[in-house]
Amino acid sequence: MKKVVLKAYGKVNLGLDVVRRRDDGYHEVRMIMQTVGLFDRLELKKTSGDSVTLSANLRFLPVNEQNLVCQAIAAVKKKYSLKDGVEAYLEKRIPIAAGMAGGSSDCAAALRGMNQLFELGLKEEELCEIGAGLGADVPYCVIGGTALAEGIGEKLTKLPPVSDCHILIAKPGISVSTKTVYENLDVPGLSSHPDITGMISAIENQDLKGITGRMENVLETVTIPRYPVIDEIKEFLLKQGAENALMSGSGPTVFGIFASQEKAQRALSNLRSFEDVKQAYVVAPVNRES
Ligand code: ATP
Repeated sequence: MKKVVLKAYGKVNLGLDVVRRRDDGYHEVRMIMQTVGLFDRLELKKTSGDSVTLSANLRFLPVNEQNLVCQAIAAVKKKYSLKDGVEAYLEKRIPIAAGMAGGSSDCAAALRGMNQLFELGLKEEELCEIGAGLGADVPYCVIGGTALAEGIGEKLTKLPPVSDCHILIAKPGISVSTKTVYENLDVPGLSSHPDITGMISAIENQDLKGITGRMENVLETVTIPRYPVIDEIKEFLLKQGAENALMSGSGPTVFGIFASQEKAQRALSNLRSFEDVKQAYVVAPVNRES
């Protein structure tokens, strides 16, 4: 095989809880992850020579070893002593530093792509293992779909798909550092925790109202006081008929879940008057291939 083309999907967190801060500074989480139909496109080509090169459609994105795509390619090349070079091209659409795991998803796509390009025959678990060394959300991005993520995000339990809903994604024109948000989270001071166990039951029962009624993200306690626009967008989406609205990950992306596509599309058009929102899409939940 000479070339592969992959889709790297973004995610939202239907629920995000932080259980405790470990002594090493990492946080133990319980998160319900959901892949959404907004994706980056990654092309990988085998080349002669040993070099790894990356180019992208955004000039400000690092295209050196800081990029998780390069890290994934290098990790696979090293682990399996691959001698050929790889030329990668990344077309970004997932908002950057937005709480949608764009970088982790590109990394996971690069791992899947290397597996295909070099016909390594690696199983999902093996890709997840390599991914865990590159970022806490990478194993989830390898499996995709609906899942419970625990530990620092790497312990995964697959859940049945969430379907029959429409997700409006709205990204305000600010970028948030995940690291800073976690560093400023007062875990013992949290006054409420999401009902993740209840949400899992609602997902198993395909009970959309049971899911949306439990949407909560403890990282909002850090990000919203700094960027009140997040709350304004949530309020706006609720007024537009969303079943519920929440910040994804460490933010600032906000998503609203709508039961009807028509309402979601109308909310998207009305959102255009919201000057602070720089990127907005209506997408569907994406299920893993099975
Ligand atoms: P998460 O939801 O996992 O916290 P995020 O959406 O907050 O992720 P990303 O878009 O993944 O954040 O990127 C955060 C930083 O990672 C960026 O500032 C960028 O410099 C770096 N980065 C490395 N590789 C990539 C990539 N392939 N795409 C985007 N950012 C990348």
